[in-house]
Amino acid sequence: MATPERRSDLAANYDSIIKQVNETASGKQVKLVAVSKYKPVEDLKALYDHGVRDFGENYVQELLTKAETLPKDIRWHFIGGLQSGKCKDLSNNIPNLYAVHSIDSFKKVKKMNSTRKAAEGNPVNVFLQINTSGESQKSGYSLGDQKELHESIDYILNNKECDKLNLLGLMTIGSFAESVAGVENKDFKALTDLKKELDAKYNIDLDLSMGMSNDFIEAIRQGSSVVRVGSSIFGARPVKP
Ligand SMILES: *Cc1c(COP(=O)(O)O)cnc(C)c1O
Repeated sequence: MATPERRSDLAANYDSIIKQVNETASGKQVKLVAVSKYKPVEDLKALYDHGVRDFGENYVQELLTKAETLPKDIRWHFIGGLQSGKCKDLSNNIPNLYAVHSIDSFKKVKKMNSTRKAAEGNPVNVFLQINTSGESQKSGYSLGDQKELHESIDYILNNKECDKLNLLGLMTIGSFAESVAGVENKDFKALTDLKKELDAKYNIDLDLSMGMSNDFIEAIRQGSSVVRVGSSIFGARPVKP
């Protein structure tokens, strides 16, 4: 178990973030996902005991280990770079996988559905990740050529084969350069504009997963419904060797 000091620090950090989230959202429902990558299960358990249920993880193996150890009513959000070969591990071994935020190809849409079907699991919520900044090191569907994005949405919504995915929304990681407090973020604007187009075309109401520690307030102002906050709750992460 984490020390009493650590437990109360985590609870206080979480409370401070959720307060800012709710104040900025002013009445609108915005979900806070606590991003716990690299952090020990003791930290997660402390927040669980404080009432937190939504946790985000970036690495499949780390998520599997934590999901096995921690209570089964946690809602796990997979937010990290996803290789199609790992869809099977997510589908098979995490019954309480709530959402995958990082689906970025038609191939992975099909893989996530077929592996979840084979595992006879509950349907999984998915967010399609969009590369709004166009940076080559960022993952996500292209904004420029949206053919594969439309192919993916059409498959999830209309293909009978696809009965294990629930399209929840769109996700993006804003570029660092765009994360300036109080200034409109072009990447978030691009995602909001895309949502409007897709909502109208498909007659749906997509959620937006956007905003992290340094830009969640601006993200909510621009229409985010899910923010993914890590270091402001758990403290800085060790640098990966
Ligand atoms: C790590 C990570 C976060 C959380 O980042 P912080 O800056 O620590 O809040 C959010 N989203 C994704 C996709 C991440 O990889």
